[in-house]
Amino acid sequence: MRILKMETKDCPHCTRQHPVATMAVEETNIYKGVKVSYEAVYEYCGVADEWHAVGDMISQNYRSMVAAYQKAVGETASADGSPADASG
Ligand SMILES: [Zn+2]
Repeated sequence: MRILKMETKDCPHCTRQHPVATMAVEETNIYKGVKVSYEAVYEYCGVADEWHAVGDMISQNYRSMVAAYQKAVGETASADGSPADASG
């Protein structure tokens, strides 16, 4: 994992003001029956010692998971050079 950002602010989790780290962590999940690994982003609350995805992070993490899935199964997100017809 790595620290993307460190910012002192009102922590949305414990509601106190303290440095909140934005962390990128390697995550493994099962999506549509396929095991995918991707980098997810979380805020870390050192007061409660807990990780939380807040706001945009939730949808961002979801998109990262879907992108990892598409990569795993060979789907291309862009139309460029995609196979004409995938039967089955
Ligand atoms: Zn906190």
